[in-house]
Amino acid sequence: MEKFLPYALPDIGEEEIQEVLDSLHSGWLTTGPKTKRFEQDFAEFIGEGAQAIAVNSATAGLHLALEALGVGPGDEVITTPYTFTSTAEVVRYLGADPVFVDIDPNTFNIDPSLIEAAITEKTKVIVPVHFAGLSCDMDEIIRIARKHNLKVMEDAAHALPTTYKGKLIGTLDTDVTVYSFYATKTIATGEGGMIVTRDEAVANRCRVMRLHGISRDAFDRYTSTKPAWHYEVVAPGFKYNMGDLNASLGIHQLRKAWAFQEKRDQMANRYDEALADLPVILPPKARQGDYHAHHVYALRLTEDAPIGRDEFIAEMSNRGIGCSVHFIPLHIHPYYRDTYQLKPEDYPKAYQAYEKEVSLPLYTKMTEEDIERVIKNVREVLGKV
Ligand SMILES: *Cc1c(COP(=O)(O)O)cnc(C)c1O
Repeated sequence: MEKFLPYALPDIGEEEIQEVLDSLHSGWLTTGPKTKRFEQDFAEFIGEGAQAIAVNSATAGLHLALEALGVGPGDEVITTPYTFTSTAEVVRYLGADPVFVDIDPNTFNIDPSLIEAAITEKTKVIVPVHFAGLSCDMDEIIRIARKHNLKVMEDAAHALPTTYKGKLIGTLDTDVTVYSFYATKTIATGEGGMIVTRDEAVANRCRVMRLHGISRDAFDRYTSTKPAWHYEVVAPGFKYNMGDLNASLGIHQLRKAWAFQEKRDQMANRYDEALADLPVILPPKARQGDYHAHHVYALRLTEDAPIGRDEFIAEMSNRGIGCSVHFIPLHIHPYYRDTYQLKPEDYPKAYQAYEKEVSLPLYTKMTEEDIERVIKNVREVLGKV
C-alpha cells in the first residue's frame, strides 16, 4: 500500500530551522528578542495600527482577551457551537456562560439573524469564529454589537490570512482578534497564538496578564536600566507568554503566509473542480475579491451519497488517507450538554452540518500527486470512478 497521507502536516523550511538554531546558540530560550520581532512583524503584517501580543496558544489569547474586555462571573458571551472547545471554555474560565447561536448552513459561520434573540442584559461579548478561514458576516455582527453596546472578539484561529470586503481580518472595527499557530494551523509555531488589537487598554492588560500580572516582562527586566531583580505583581496573572523557539518559527512562517494561502487556494479549486459531480456539497467560496484562508476543506455528503460520513472516513483511512471532522458541535459534548441542558436539536443547523461533514487533507506540504490521490479515492469511495 502507498504511504499513509496524514490529515495535516506543518510546512517547516530551512529558514525556520536556522532561526531556531540561532536562538539555541544565543542561549535565550524564553520570551526575548525573537518574540519581540515576531510581534513587530505580525503587527506590520496586519497593519492599520494593530498591536500584536504573542502568547503560547490561541486558547490563552482568547482567555486573556476576554479578561481584558472585562468578562466576569455571571456574564454571557455569544458564540457558535460550531467551533473547537477553546472558544467557549475560556468563557467558563472567567465564570461566565457561553450562549450558543446556530450557524448559517451554507457557511458554517454564526448566523447573524439569530444573534439578537440570544442577547440578554448579561451579554457582554459576541465571539464570531471564521470557520475554515471564510469570514463571518462581520458588517451585520458589528452592527448588532454596536446597537446593544457589546464587544466583539474574533476567533481567527482559521483565518490567517482572510479578508472581509477587501479588509484583512484583524483590521475590522472589532475589539480584539486572536490567531492560532498550533501545529496544524495555516502558519505553525508548534504551539502559539497572537492577540491583535488597536485598543491600548486591552493591549496593556493582555501584556500584563500573560506573564503573572507582572508589570514588566522578562525581556524588559533583563534589558532595562532598572535593577534586573525588581518587578511588581499588579494582578494574579497567567503564564501565557510565547518562547523564542516558537517565535523563531513564527517569524519565517509569517513571511510565507500569503504564498501558503495561494497554494491552498489552488488546491481547494482543484478539489472543487474534481468533486463537483459527486453527491457532495462543496465548501462555500469567499465572495468576489476576498481571500479564504482554507484552513479546512469542509465537504458535506448529501443524502444521495452511497455511504454515511463515518463509513466514508473509515474507508478513506483503509485507503491510506487521513480525514477529519470539523467540528463535533459543542452542544453535543457531555460538558456543555449537561451543564446547559442542551439537546442536539437546539442548534439544528450545526447538528445537521456535523452529521454530514468531512474534512479532506489540504496543506502546503501536499504534492499534486497527493491531491490527485485524494480525489481518485474520494471518487471511488462515493462510487464514481
Ligand atoms: C485551533 C483552534 C483554537 C485553539 O488554538 P490553540 O492555539 O491550539 O489554543 C481556537 N479556536 C478554533 C476555532 C480553533 O480551531
